[in-house]
Amino acid sequence: MQLQLFYSCYKVKLYHYTNPVSSALSAQEQIVLLHTYIYTIMNENLPKEHAVNFLRFCPHCGCEQFSALSTKEFACARCGFHFFTNSAAAVAIIIENAQGEIMLTRRARDPWKGMLDLPGGFVDPGESVEEAAHREIREELGLEIENLRYFASSANKYVFSNYLIETSDICFTCTAASPLSLIKPMDDVSEILWFAPNKINTDDIGGESIRKLISAYVKRSEL
Ligand SMILES: [Zn+2]
Repeated sequence: MQLQLFYSCYKVKLYHYTNPVSSALSAQEQIVLLHTYIYTIMNENLPKEHAVNFLRFCPHCGCEQFSALSTKEFACARCGFHFFTNSAAAVAIIIENAQGEIMLTRRARDPWKGMLDLPGGFVDPGESVEEAAHREIREELGLEIENLRYFASSANKYVFSNYLIETSDICFTCTAASPLSLIKPMDDVSEILWFAPNKINTDDIGGESIRKLISAYVKRSEL
């Protein structure tokens, strides 16, 4: 630890001698730079897809003096821009039918292509999670839903374009408001299937977060 700190200080000092832009930095900017070097060196074990190892340039001024202050906060030592990689909101929807069954979808794309899933997706900017639930079901299944009720939430990790996106999956239960016979699997859904909760094999579900949510639903239905 002491050695790492010494190495970081040395590296920052060396950087300032060899980089004409950073040598013009204020004392406060140099402290930000020092923190980012210490943080980067202490977190070399994070996966390559993690923002700490993936984001290299300031999104505002484009310079390379942009680094992590923590696993979710970045700062630019040149222009002072702060950037956060907060968890993205996503919805997962459990549609129930009159027979006490729930709908699972089969994934048409990677990750987990061919495995079972719940319909849903990311919440758009400016949209409520309820609005996102209605929109996603309309887009993926061509279905209108009603009786939307919060069920549970789960943290999720999702790699897209070799970049790790951390999400908060918010799960709702609901019923169909339009005829189930009109459902058309679209988008990233290849097939829909209906299961009584006690007939679901959770090993067939792709993704730990959705597996957790469905397991919690199955457990609740056994009470
Ligand atoms: Zn910048």
